[in-house]
Amino acid sequence: MGIYETLGVRPVINASGPVTRLSGNPMHPDVAAAMAEAAQLCVRIDDIQEAAGRYLAEISGAEAGYVTTGAAAGLALSAAAAIARFDVAAMDRLPDTAGLPNEIVIQRAHVTDYSHALRLPGAKLVEVGYVGYPGQGVTWPWDVESAITERTAALAFSIGSAKGIVSLAEMAAIAHRHDLPLIVDAAASLPPRENLRRFIAEGADLVTFSGGKMIGGPQASGLLLGRADLIESVALQQQDMDVYPETWPWRQRYLESGRLPGPPHHGIGRPMKVGKEEIVGLVVALRRFMTRDLEAERRDQQVQLELIIDALRDLPGVAPGLLDDSAAPRPYPTAIIRLDERRLERSAESIVNQLAEEDPPVAVSQNFLDRRALGLVATTLRPGEAEIVAARLKEVLSH
Ligand SMILES: *Cc1c(COP(=O)(O)O)cnc(C)c1O
Repeated sequence: MGIYETLGVRPVINASGPVTRLSGNPMHPDVAAAMAEAAQLCVRIDDIQEAAGRYLAEISGAEAGYVTTGAAAGLALSAAAAIARFDVAAMDRLPDTAGLPNEIVIQRAHVTDYSHALRLPGAKLVEVGYVGYPGQGVTWPWDVESAITERTAALAFSIGSAKGIVSLAEMAAIAHRHDLPLIVDAAASLPPRENLRRFIAEGADLVTFSGGKMIGGPQASGLLLGRADLIESVALQQQDMDVYPETWPWRQRYLESGRLPGPPHHGIGRPMKVGKEEIVGLVVALRRFMTRDLEAERRDQQVQLELIIDALRDLPGVAPGLLDDSAAPRPYPTAIIRLDERRLERSAESIVNQLAEEDPPVAVSQNFLDRRALGLVATTLRPGEAEIVAARLKEVLSH
């Protein structure tokens, strides 16, 4: 009996990509095997974090790297580092930021529901500008600059395709003129692989990526890349701090050197602790990611989507096709199935629900419901599942 069966839970055929509510990607056997091996031996978590951090720095060109429990945790830890820096008393007080600079300036077009994570250590978002282009709204560099005061702790930026925004490089220049760090949410911006280096090269001080999306790492993993001093602050606020000064493995680095008055206590990052299994799994997934033939994977995903499109092509009220992403490239091919709801006499949502609730449960992407369309992504499909998705869709859309 499979593990899910023993729990009475049905696995889902996931045609919607590595979304968290559907548990991310099926994991490559090499990554799963590395995690299983790591699970059987204890290590010092600082040692393995530092080793992983050196690897992350090497592949990104950042000064330092750190493994987090996900990109959202990376945002929270970044904000904590920007606010507390090396002040151990401040670290101990978060999320109480009374008397500390705690404002994070962000363009309104970049506020997402993940921005909530930035507020976790007590930061307050200061939103500037408008969404769009002149006549509808736009953000100018002076909008950003004029929001900076002595209460500002950082600037934040989300990678996406919003119009009329101040670019990452301009945001970095403004931040650095004021001696502030720029925190970048690049969670879903891989591939292309070049993005591991790009945002750092453009001036970001901290960049967070999801480990569980296209890298194919553990679902509860993420990368944080950036300036060495900020990553050190993250590490101090995230590690287990049940230590005596005399036996703390970092006593030389921080205490004997006089950099800290004593070891900090457990920080705001402690509830986001990372397991050895996640650290190892993320490194192994990244090593694979650096050499995987991503173009061949894309072609293979497209073949699977075309198989589904072909199966639906002649159905009345249904217009399937590949999404043209030439204007805003997506990390993977996507199919969209436009629905003529009047002709089908049912809503797109009811089809999403029927697919999800019947046997076997099939999840399609809901990212195109605003266009009255179902979305399909093949990155999370296992061999043979595209045929099942095609058959289920055909059946449900024919009635
Ligand atoms: C997925 C995502 C996140 C959260 O990433 P996790 O690794 O799941 O924590 C944050 N921001 C954006 C833009 C995302 O797409």
